[in-house]
Amino acid sequence: VPRIIVAGNGQLGQMLQQAAAPMQIEVMPVNPTSDDRLELRDSDVITVELEHWPDSPRGVQLKDHPNFLNATALHSVIDRERQKSLLDRLNVPTAPWVSLGDEAGMAAQLDELGCPAVIKRRRGGYDGRGQWRWQPGEPVLAEWANECIAEAMIPFSHEVSLVGARNRAGEKVFYPLTRNWHESGILRASVGNLDVPAEQQQLAEEWLGRIMDDQGYVGVMAMECFVEEGHLLVNELAPRVHNSGHWTQAGADISQFELHLRAVADLPLITPEVYGVTMMYNLLGRDWRTEWLGVTGTHVHWYAKEIRPGRKVGHVNLHRPNVEALMDSLKQMQGQVDAEDQCVFDWALAQL
Ligand code: ATP
Ligand code: MG
Ligand code: MG
Repeated sequence: VPRIIVAGNGQLGQMLQQAAAPMQIEVMPVNPTSDDRLELRDSDVITVELEHWPDSPRGVQLKDHPNFLNATALHSVIDRERQKSLLDRLNVPTAPWVSLGDEAGMAAQLDELGCPAVIKRRRGGYDGRGQWRWQPGEPVLAEWANECIAEAMIPFSHEVSLVGARNRAGEKVFYPLTRNWHESGILRASVGNLDVPAEQQQLAEEWLGRIMDDQGYVGVMAMECFVEEGHLLVNELAPRVHNSGHWTQAGADISQFELHLRAVADLPLITPEVYGVTMMYNLLGRDWRTEWLGVTGTHVHWYAKEIRPGRKVGHVNLHRPNVEALMDSLKQMQGQVDAEDQCVFDWALAQL
């Protein structure tokens, strides 16, 4: 089994390392922005947990390694204009969009879109950063010119995501669609393994499979979707393990982290067995409480980051064998979280 270098040393790299530990597979998260070059081996496999980094000496060294994976997909996804064009080319439905050009023409472009819009910076945005809401008649901002796309605002009923993996041989496996709740652009919670319409699951797998095949992708990829009147529209792609797949640490026999390792290291890629129901609760700028461990089914993942307002510093998976049992655990936990987070449990209970 090759050594796996992860470009990025945040929580995703940490959790890849944790998934590898029982098998003693070596996973080495590194900071790609560093100026120090690494002692890399030809046999190393390089994967990413982040999509952007400057052309630092180490960043260049990683990208130039012969086993740097998914350069094509990263190039396609890193810029929203390219990403939306990719989806259009592959006939994967997305929200209508335009790429905003010069300042003088932006108002006309938005008028042509003809509806409330979400303006998104083409590069570098995550957790809802670099986005604006725009209503017809409102002024446009000079800073959007040539830097942003505008998307029709979709009045979705809810959001789901598909996490899947592909290996070099082109084999693909998927988890069931995950139900997600974003607030102000940031994921508050997910529920994994709810019943989903079979045709939605099938369509989503077909689309993500088409995208991964087209890009010759190897590893785990996530596809975020809106559900509007029962129909799926793709929001965006994440060419890596994804926050909406964290529930698989508790709710599947192979977590998304192990699945990614299997795909990139050419280990057997088999469909994960998923059991029970799992809610994932993101800790945004809050510490965890030891009393939560008294709630059946609770697993705390703490990222050892400094707590700052709104920052993702950990998550909690609540896993139970069935919906009734999960409801019990959610109600118990709801009484033990900060008042501002109790709504997260109301949301989860409403999904069950
Ligand atoms: P991530 O952290 O997932 O990478 P991001 O910053 O790249 O997020 P998006 O996924 O594009 O941002 O948007 C964040 C959230 O904002 C979405 O999950 C959705 O709730 C809302 N949103 C984004 N685009 C639209 C849209 N066109 N219509 C309605 N809501 C939208
Ligand atoms: Mg994103
Ligand atoms: Mg997103």
